[in-house]
Order: sequence, then C-alpha cells, then structure tokens
Amino acid sequence: MRMWMISPKYLCRQHLLGEHNEIHMLLGCLEKGKSVSGYIEKGLVELHNIRVRHDSIVEEMIKRGYRHHTPIYSTPHPETLSVGKVDLIQSAQELMNRCSGCCLRIESDANLIIGMQLYDYIDGVIQGSVTN
Ligand SMILES: [Zn+2]
Ligand SMILES: [Zn+2]
Repeated sequence: MRMWMISPKYLCRQHLLGEHNEIHMLLGCLEKGKSVSGYIEKGLVELHNIRVRHDSIVEEMIKRGYRHHTPIYSTPHPETLSVGKVDLIQSAQELMNRCSGCCLRIESDANLIIGMQLYDYIDGVIQGSVTN
C-alpha cells in the first residue's frame, strides 16, 4: 500500500487507479484494526491525509471520465493527528524511474520550464499539489 502524494495529474491511469485502490485497502486495514506501522515507518502512507488524498484523486478520475462509486466520509484516524510522512521528491523520482507513463506526464510539464532543475521543478509541483 502506497500513497504517492504528488499531484494526481501526474499519475498515469494505472497509477491513479492503483493509488485509489490502495487508499481503500489502507482504510480497510484501519477499520479492521490491523497494524499499518510498517507502511508508516517506510514513509509510504500518511494516515491523516487519507480522505483528502482520496478526494483529490477522485477529482482527477472524474476529470478523466473514470467512474467512482466509493466515497469516503470518515476515517478511523483523526485528521488532525499527523502520522506518517511521504517524501514527495523521492516519491516523484521513484515514480519516474518506475513508470514511463508517469515520467512522460511529469517531464512534458517540466520541459515547459527552461533552465530549472528537475529537482526544483518537482518541488514546485508538489507545493501546488498539497490540498487542504
Ligand atoms: Zn474511492
Ligand atoms: Zn504510472
């Protein structure tokens, strides 16, 4: 289970729908009282952002014409209690290494900004992606 946390517009179809699925799995684990500490320790999930992240992914899914039937109204984990931290730059870089589809989406945008290091660019992308 993994929350990529970078702006959903940079996720290819597979990774967008994949992260959506994994958020519901994560929520399922919490509701059943299963431990997710391994995922937290590895920096793969942010428990306080489950609903917010889910909703921003769904917004992008709808924009692309995908269907969504699994709203999240509440989570067992209080949203005011910060647990887990995903390193967004690492996350973006790993996704770019792993997936040519996501890489293209990020790069095609990065090419618009000439003279900017990709690292700084990703940082900028991420600033805009944190929704509240
Ligand atoms: Zn859903
Ligand atoms: Zn991808």
